[in-house]
Amino acid sequence: MSEQALCWLNGQLLPLADASVPVNDHGLLYGDGVFEGIRIYHKRAFRLQQHLERLALSARAIALDMPYSLAELTAAVQEIVEVFSGESGYIRLMVTRGPGPLGLNPVGCHRPNVILIADQISLVHSQSREQGARLIIAAMRRLPFDGLDPRVKSLNYLNHILAKIEANHAGVDEAVLLNGQGRVTEGTADNIFIVKNETLVTPPCTEGALEGITRELILELAAEAGIPVRIAPLAPYDLYTADECFLTGTGAEMIPVRDIDGRELTKCPGPVFKQLNRLFFERIETESR
Ligand code: PMP
Repeated sequence: MSEQALCWLNGQLLPLADASVPVNDHGLLYGDGVFEGIRIYHKRAFRLQQHLERLALSARAIALDMPYSLAELTAAVQEIVEVFSGESGYIRLMVTRGPGPLGLNPVGCHRPNVILIADQISLVHSQSREQGARLIIAAMRRLPFDGLDPRVKSLNYLNHILAKIEANHAGVDEAVLLNGQGRVTEGTADNIFIVKNETLVTPPCTEGALEGITRELILELAAEAGIPVRIAPLAPYDLYTADECFLTGTGAEMIPVRDIDGRELTKCPGPVFKQLNRLFFERIETESR
């Protein structure tokens, strides 16, 4: 937490250090709730509408009634961005099931807590951003699609956290999670792309990845730039033998990958990454000015 960290809690703005929720909130007790991570660029929340729509869908999917309309949430985000001291930063917007009796039944939870935290975020060291991140494929698998739908951005990230701990142990930046069939899904908080024979490839979200807003933007930019794109399942072999690989996400933005399980990618950062990265930040400029 930095000194500038700010919180919007159920309509009230306050320094993060002064913000608190009841300890019997089912968000804390059971990871019962949903969230979004949103970037602030030039004092504007990037792609806010898309984030709020995804949040509303996540909430509907877990039968959580949001206490605020999308218009009210938009106003809340604008308010915290306005007061936040940074020109750029990151917002974590959470809706928890709210306080209730012990036991996981949400029936006794009547007041969801809506929490926005504005602060800075750094997913990898700046050196890894420039020279490329080092990855492992985690032993930990992504939760199956037919168990918990990956489109729900829930507060429960434990299997991703365990994959991150594997990456920490291996002394690398990030871990890739496979699905139950051994195919590639995504990173711990980012989607994954490879480039092979000048074609950009990313797995379909049905493999077990979040429908990333950054992923969608990258696919949009690639199509506009005439870069051939394929949405296709990937095996670890495809990562090991790719020409390029990179990660995308709101927190990650775009991170080039240097090696995966010790296999060096042919190019890092490669030409397709560089082109898309330039288009990505140009798009952020046009949409945020
Ligand atoms: N996958 C997971 C599991 C994530 O948590 C995130 C970050 N929200 C992403 C992918 C990237 O999604 P987005 O581009 O919407 O931030």
